[in-house]
Amino acid sequence: MADKAKAKPLFVAGRPDATCSFCGKGRDDTRYLVGGKSPTSHICNDCAFDALTCLVEAATREANAAASAAQGYAA
Ligand SMILES: [Zn+2]
Repeated sequence: MADKAKAKPLFVAGRPDATCSFCGKGRDDTRYLVGGKSPTSHICNDCAFDALTCLVEAATREANAAASAAQGYAA
């Protein structure tokens, strides 16, 4: 981990001193830092991935529940 090269952000929106609103990482500590609709809200690539994972898991649970319900009606 000591030799881990810091990748420069490929896309940074907002102010140069912007930080991730979720974890507090600054633009030099993350690869992407995306600005939100609010000028003070940003999200880094790590937090965006975590959020996406949560959304996919929730959507999968909903789809599975709907499929189970549909099977129950078909029986
Ligand atoms: Zn973050």
